[in-house]
Amino acid sequence: MKTETLKKDIIEMIKSYEKIIIHRHVRPDLDAYGSQCGLGEILKASFPEKKIYMVGTPALALNYLHELDEIEDEEWNGALAIVTDTANQERIDDNRYVKAEKLIKIDHHPNHDAYGDICWVNVEASATSEMIFELFEAGKNMGFICSPEAARLLYGGIAGDTGHFLYPSTSCDTFRIVSELVKYDFDRNQLHTEMYEEPMNMIKLQGYILENFETLENNVGNIFITNEIKEKFNVSSSDASRLVSILGNVKGIKAWAFFTEDKPIRVNLRSKGTIINTIAEKYNGGGHPLASGANVSSWDEAKLLLKDLVDACK
Ligand code: AMP
Repeated sequence: MKTETLKKDIIEMIKSYEKIIIHRHVRPDLDAYGSQCGLGEILKASFPEKKIYMVGTPALALNYLHELDEIEDEEWNGALAIVTDTANQERIDDNRYVKAEKLIKIDHHPNHDAYGDICWVNVEASATSEMIFELFEAGKNMGFICSPEAARLLYGGIAGDTGHFLYPSTSCDTFRIVSELVKYDFDRNQLHTEMYEEPMNMIKLQGYILENFETLENNVGNIFITNEIKEKFNVSSSDASRLVSILGNVKGIKAWAFFTEDKPIRVNLRSKGTIINTIAEKYNGGGHPLASGANVSSWDEAKLLLKDLVDACK
């Protein structure tokens, strides 16, 4: 179906529901929060008479972005659920979405699981937050309003998923949309501070990672963050894995794996050119061609994944 038709269908479905519950993926990042809560704030500003909820497990490190709603099971009865930035159903945070009357998927990951009554996926979009702004633009003449708070969230989502407009996914559309978003009255400086300031234990962990990562054949980097290291620096697995991008600063590195001990072991994969989401898919994961996540059950399996990464970078 054409993008314009999909957006129109989504707008019509939103207008026809009195209760809308917005979900995003587990282990949220800036774009998950930005697209979910950005859409939530657009709908609250546009339709004050509707009940709009944003749900999921809060991520402490992203609390500055938005608060989430805690709601009872019966709220899903007769509701429209919208899931943003979530490629597959297993990764939807709060699986009570199944109780909703209708379901909409809005996402920018490869569409291996085309769930929902309406499924709008654009893998060219740098972030799902970019798509939410396009949805607002399509709905402008039908009562959609973007508030400064919504603009702040969408800007944060796009800045997060593009590494502040550095990654190759950053397009002319990204810059056009961001140039619209910065016209809204929100404190960009404050947001940047919140995005990049880290507590001292995280700074020290960055130092540990930079001193201890390994380089393998074919310019592949890797680091193992064990439970012992997490305890030493007093960080959670989610905190640790947020540091994946720092290895990208190492000159010459082509692709890298960031392992964090947990049950199962978490893997964050990044690349400067070699396609890595096919490797992530082989190890219970997925994601974008140059930024993916996976899970392995032992350090031996981690080594198999590393071998695949080394071979892919030949
Ligand atoms: P991360 O390394 O967790 O920052 O994730 C990078 C990208 O891969 C994000 O777009 C995630 O949504 C996606 N991703 C991470 N883990 C998984 C997984 N287990 N399955 C599918 N996609 C994932």
